[in-house]
Amino acid sequence: PSPAQLTRAESLIAITPDFPKPGVLFRDIGPMLQDADALRTVTEALTAPFEGGFDLVAGVEARGFVLAGAVAATAGTGLLPIRKAGKTPQPTASVDYALEYGVATIEAAGDLTGRRVLLVDDVLATGGTLVAAARLVEQLGGEVAGVAVVLELTALGGRERVPDAHAVFAA
Ligand code: AMP
Repeated sequence: PSPAQLTRAESLIAITPDFPKPGVLFRDIGPMLQDADALRTVTEALTAPFEGGFDLVAGVEARGFVLAGAVAATAGTGLLPIRKAGKTPQPTASVDYALEYGVATIEAAGDLTGRRVLLVDDVLATGGTLVAAARLVEQLGGEVAGVAVVLELTALGGRERVPDAHAVFAA
């Protein structure tokens, strides 16, 4: 994608103060997803550095699902939706983790032996979600081939926990 396309896509990430809790500056990729060029631009920017190096894309419910689906369709790979607790009938892996706002458990089922998995999410904040997702993939027998996010919030220190993350945008 061109610099102009990237700049335009970034401008379509909406910023809302004090959502969902006081003190959180929420970044909403919703308007970006609704724009065809921005969605394609960001999907390509998430995918390109890892092209050929993964055969499965994993995203955490719910915004990670959307981006992982777009990346998987672009790259021609499979998709692993990582779910919040209680949604998977027979989970074979489960990881508890802390969020910028709250706590959560993620689960998934399957055998990822021999699979190279690209983890995708909208925002890298503290890194807790992506560290948990990586542990989950490893519990399932897979190998984490890379981590890609739309937006890294640098002040929250997620990069210390996910040093190799590829962020399309940083704020
Ligand atoms: P963390 O685990 O702290 O890196 O948080 C990342 C996850 O929480 C991502 O899946 C985001 O969807 C969400 N998240 C955390 N902070 C924000 C924020 N300021 N704006 C939008 N989403 C956020």
